[in-house]
Amino acid sequence: MQKNNTSILPGQTIGIIGGGQLGRMMAIAAKYMGYYIAVLDPTTNCPASQVADKQITAAYDDKQAIKELTEMADVVTYEFENVDLTAATYIEEKGKLPQGPYALEITQNREKEKQLMKDLGLPIPDFSIITNGRECEEVLKTFSFPAVIKTCSGGYDGKGQLKLKSQADIQQAVDFAEKNSHCIIEEWVTFDKEISVIFTRAKSGEISFFPIAENDHKDHILYQTQVPARISEEVQNKAYKAAEKLAEKMNVVGTFAIEIFVQGEDIFLNEMAPRPHNSGHYTIEACNISQFAQHIRAIAGLPLAPIKLLEPAAMINILGEDLDGVLRALPKMEDGFVHLYGKVEAKTKRKMGHTTFIAETQEEIKQQISRFEEAKR
Ligand code: AMP
Repeated sequence: MQKNNTSILPGQTIGIIGGGQLGRMMAIAAKYMGYYIAVLDPTTNCPASQVADKQITAAYDDKQAIKELTEMADVVTYEFENVDLTAATYIEEKGKLPQGPYALEITQNREKEKQLMKDLGLPIPDFSIITNGRECEEVLKTFSFPAVIKTCSGGYDGKGQLKLKSQADIQQAVDFAEKNSHCIIEEWVTFDKEISVIFTRAKSGEISFFPIAENDHKDHILYQTQVPARISEEVQNKAYKAAEKLAEKMNVVGTFAIEIFVQGEDIFLNEMAPRPHNSGHYTIEACNISQFAQHIRAIAGLPLAPIKLLEPAAMINILGEDLDGVLRALPKMEDGFVHLYGKVEAKTKRKMGHTTFIAETQEEIKQQISRFEEAKR
């Protein structure tokens, strides 16, 4: 297969660290184009391995496995932010990690993430960093409530955080801080809605934005995404500008997501993910190019496609406890695009798949969703 200096072309191999649903959907997008896929994941038969050409079954930070993946692949990407930084640096030094380790270093640590946003003058909730129970108690004596305490690393889907309603919760926070040491305490924002800005940035610095998504969470897990988000042009522009600033500062390459709280015409940045995002799954059916395909283009050094929203959309996650209902509904459903990730065990709260509805109007989408809910029973 022909090679050139700047682009990785179909016929060459993309290595993916992490074999979950995001790796799987990246792999599917790349397979459509004709790439080979090698995935590194400790679990055999993981979602991405089911569509990949090759799996290296080893821990994500296994040095030998990282070396093997790097040798096998022409370019390497990842599906999660907790990639071992030594591994990321090694792959970059071999010239195969266009995304670089910096965006990973920032997004795997809430302190670094918030500090970077603050340094750039971006709007964020008030925060303090603490490293033990005593510091936690000191900070909370003057902090306004409600607040939230979060671990600085390792939390996701609401894991690793505790909401603090009033001073009465200080002891709980102190215990949390003692257990987790490096934590961030944040002001609780009474937001009107949560949105996410998802974009893809090319190596050249060119950015393409997907339409902003509006997100509803249940028990801290994304439940539903609606597009277009019901926000003003002012909010939209503020969100795009903040994203541009961050993307440039971190020299982002690939698809990237920023979660934002909206309060009136104000925005407050919450957290970032240096990868495709759950709230961008709607792009598979509702846009001319998905967040995954655009990501592959970016890391392969191909030009980005100009993004168009083809139709309004809603995406609903399928958790372990929803799976039986969805399977009951599927034979009766004319609309709704069901994606299941091939996870063997349907545990409660585990993301097993998602369904995307598209139509000309949100009213029609609502009707599709009610028929879906009815058919699940
Ligand atoms: P996170 O893991 O930081 O994305 O938090 C998970 C969810 O908790 C968010 O999507 C919000 O719904 C809620 N949350 C987290 N931090 C805050 C905050 N400072 N103010 C209000 N809600 C928050």
